[in-house]
Amino acid sequence: MAHQFKAAINQLNKVSQLRHITYDELEILRRPDRVIEVSLPVIMDNGKIKVFTGYRVQYNNTRGPYKGGLRFHPQVNLDEVKTLAFWMAIKCAVADIPYGGGKGGIAVDVKTLSLSELERLTRAYTRGFADFIGPNIDIPAPDVYTNPQIMAWLMDEYSHIKGENTPAVVTGKPVEIGGSLGRETATSLGGFYVLEQVLAKLKIAKHKVSLAVQGFGNVGMNFALIAQAAGFQIVAVSDSGGGLYNEKGLDLKAVLAHKQKTSCVKNFKSAKNISNEKLLELPVEVLVPAALENVIDENNASRVKAKIILELANGPTAGGAEDKLSKKGVLVIPDVLANAGGVIVSYFEWVQNLRHFYWDQAKVEDRLKRQIMNALEKVWQTMEAQGNNNMREAAYIVAVERLVKALRIRGI
Ligand code: NAD
Repeated sequence: MAHQFKAAINQLNKVSQLRHITYDELEILRRPDRVIEVSLPVIMDNGKIKVFTGYRVQYNNTRGPYKGGLRFHPQVNLDEVKTLAFWMAIKCAVADIPYGGGKGGIAVDVKTLSLSELERLTRAYTRGFADFIGPNIDIPAPDVYTNPQIMAWLMDEYSHIKGENTPAVVTGKPVEIGGSLGRETATSLGGFYVLEQVLAKLKIAKHKVSLAVQGFGNVGMNFALIAQAAGFQIVAVSDSGGGLYNEKGLDLKAVLAHKQKTSCVKNFKSAKNISNEKLLELPVEVLVPAALENVIDENNASRVKAKIILELANGPTAGGAEDKLSKKGVLVIPDVLANAGGVIVSYFEWVQNLRHFYWDQAKVEDRLKRQIMNALEKVWQTMEAQGNNNMREAAYIVAVERLVKALRIRGI
């Protein structure tokens, strides 16, 4: 979607009208600190050279180094990376962790690359950005179609360039080389903690809750497994190839085995195939978009039947849809809170790398729960003080107040 960044900044403009933020302060927050585009020539397996474009946007480092994922997807473009970097700046402030926002990406379909081409592309990206990233500068992490192996190559290439082992340059690494226990499931577990607490606040009993999850990757799949293990009923899941629906609930372990065999979830024996669009309109209590941006927009918002939307993806609800959902009484738990578990445990991983001292999984998950529950409480109280059901507005108020406070203390 073109002008995604402009639409994202709109939220900032709205919030600035609710709080005492000067025009100059707003001007600083409306722009990324730095936008970098790098050309990445890669020798393909057939001996030919293909030139990719790599992006990194460093949004605002007033509260700490830039931090944010690295996305490999055919639709990656600068406008999208700027938007995602802005959301990271807001998210780190909502979660109250000492980072600014950043994001990176390459427009590439990883499904067309061999493993060694993927490795060469990742190493080329690292060389291209080596002067701009680092443990105290900017710390990438996994995002759509990037994974712990890709983070390991990035860390290795960077360490070779700098001549010293530097695990803290990237998070989401495999545990064997400095990754944190609990990082792979952190985004999903954090989202699950938030959902459980919101349901408790709304006095909705767990056994009455059915969920549909769009996206069966790292975030969506782990969330579905955690929620099912906790007693929730998952009636639908999907991936880029389409979705599955069984109103009586899905056997997720069997769905997972089916996906591993056939590389997609559809055509599973004990469920109906449905499209990704139809999944969003199912009669469920909770809808969990966990794939890409703007899947709920002005056109389909009126057909969404869920009472709660837990945004595990970044930006799944387009601006125009939000008002329609709000009027229908749908509670949207915004991405900048719902999926903050990933960056919170990335922060723990970075701390462990810098200290060379590693925590057990129970400590990671206990600290994650405390950090994300504090964030939820602050957002919830702010929403109640505003007297509406707009959690996104409340989260942005919390974030912008923290960012502006830091700006004022540091000076320009
Ligand atoms: P992933 O690559 O592991 O999984 C993405 C999933 O989305 C896959 O199942 C893919 O098949 C599916 N998908 C792709 N296109 C689709 C489409 N058009 N319709 C439906 N499904 C589609 O990525 P991930 O890490 O799980 O990230 C998913 C979302 O969560 C993204 O928005 C990402 O920015 C966000 N997020 C991820 C993390 C993290 O820690 N990985 C943290 C915060 C937010």
